[in-house]
Amino acid sequence: MNETTADVVIVGASATGSLAGREAAKRGASVLLLEEDSLPGKFHKCSGLYSKRGIEKLNVDYSGFFCNEIKGANIHAGKHSFTVQKKESIALVLDRQKLDEALCQQAIDAGAKLQTSQKIMRKNENGIASQNSMFGFRYLIGADGVSSTVAHLYNFPSIGNGNIAMCYEAEFDNCNIENPELVDVFLDRKIFPGFFGWIIPSGGKKARIGFGTTKHAALKIAFNSFFALPQVQQVRGDKTLRDFWHAIPLRTRKVTQKQNVLLVGDAAGQVKSTSGGGVVFGGQCAMLAGEIAARNCNGENLNYEAAWRKKFGKVLKTHRAIRKIFDAVPTPLHKLTVFGFDKLFVSKLVEKFGDMDYIASVK
Ligand SMILES: Cc1cc2nc3c(=O)[nH]c(=O)nc-3n(C[C@H](O)[C@H](O)[C@H](O)COP(=O)(O)OP(=O)(O)OC[C@H]3O[C@@H](n4cnc5c(N)ncnc54)[C@H](O)[C@@H]3O)c2cc1C
Repeated sequence: MNETTADVVIVGASATGSLAGREAAKRGASVLLLEEDSLPGKFHKCSGLYSKRGIEKLNVDYSGFFCNEIKGANIHAGKHSFTVQKKESIALVLDRQKLDEALCQQAIDAGAKLQTSQKIMRKNENGIASQNSMFGFRYLIGADGVSSTVAHLYNFPSIGNGNIAMCYEAEFDNCNIENPELVDVFLDRKIFPGFFGWIIPSGGKKARIGFGTTKHAALKIAFNSFFALPQVQQVRGDKTLRDFWHAIPLRTRKVTQKQNVLLVGDAAGQVKSTSGGGVVFGGQCAMLAGEIAARNCNGENLNYEAAWRKKFGKVLKTHRAIRKIFDAVPTPLHKLTVFGFDKLFVSKLVEKFGDMDYIASVK
């Protein structure tokens, strides 16, 4: 069996693992990124929609894989619909796989080493292991997604099945897109309990169309009901470019650090529960994890769990509170209408606080 050691070993070379690796390597730590697939990245299992302000915090040049700009949304709930739109673009649609590859390349350029086709399966007192190799570490970062093996091996508390949205998305070509600057969001507790549906124009005549729900037993009904929606039928193109099922954690794990083992990104549940977006917050927490691991290897004694909760805990809790309100009423818009929050009010609210990631202030 091969044996390798590094200051910081990171399991998962998608967005958050690469960001952690980049930040740790930049600070002089020896970094090893381990990826079970033959290539780094999430292979497009993501809508690729990021707030402009958020993606800029990750310090990556996305000009080579930019797909579209978004200025607002058509919100649908049952028979009710309204549009909120800003003058300037608030979000970007990117090629997710190319984003991951660019982030991984940044980590390598900073000095990290990448080993692909290394699926981590077990641990012992010397470290973690794939089928043929053993990896020793001073710090271990689990960036291995929603069903994290690192979390499992080190007995972190589970996220809980009721807090996982199972999602389907397909990208279609030859779509009938009325306004490429607007996404469509479908809020309907009957069709998508616990989550929602979406149409995201992704450049030219392409659109990423999907839905998610936390009621996994109702997936087939949700699928049929979603694709029967008139708006979806109208937009949907005749050519399917790709499709996938994947899960999104909608709450953080109660514990994300055990001594020198840290969890980041989906493995930690660092995701906005309103939208399921995890790249911006998970990415920034991962940057913090990489920095802290490297600095601790250099003799400091910093606590990752306390640091990320102090910086992002409040904003993630706000997203979770909004999610709970959405889930608690038959359809959010009915409730808003009942309380007199008409579309003018909502559009003003979105204009003011509509930045997709930052609902509450971030220190
Ligand atoms: C349908 C859908 C749409 C989404 N849309 C958006 C969006 O528009 N915007 C947004 O911000 N977020 C979106 N998300 C969420 C986003 O994709 C995740 O939050 C993000 O990918 C988390 O990144 P990560 O690096 O933590 O995990 P992942 O991207 O899941 O990467 C985990 C990596 O670990 C590797 N791995 C796993 N197990 C092992 C192992 N045992 N050994 C070695 N390697 C392993 C995997 O191969 C993978 O490369 C969406 C998610 C879904 C499902």
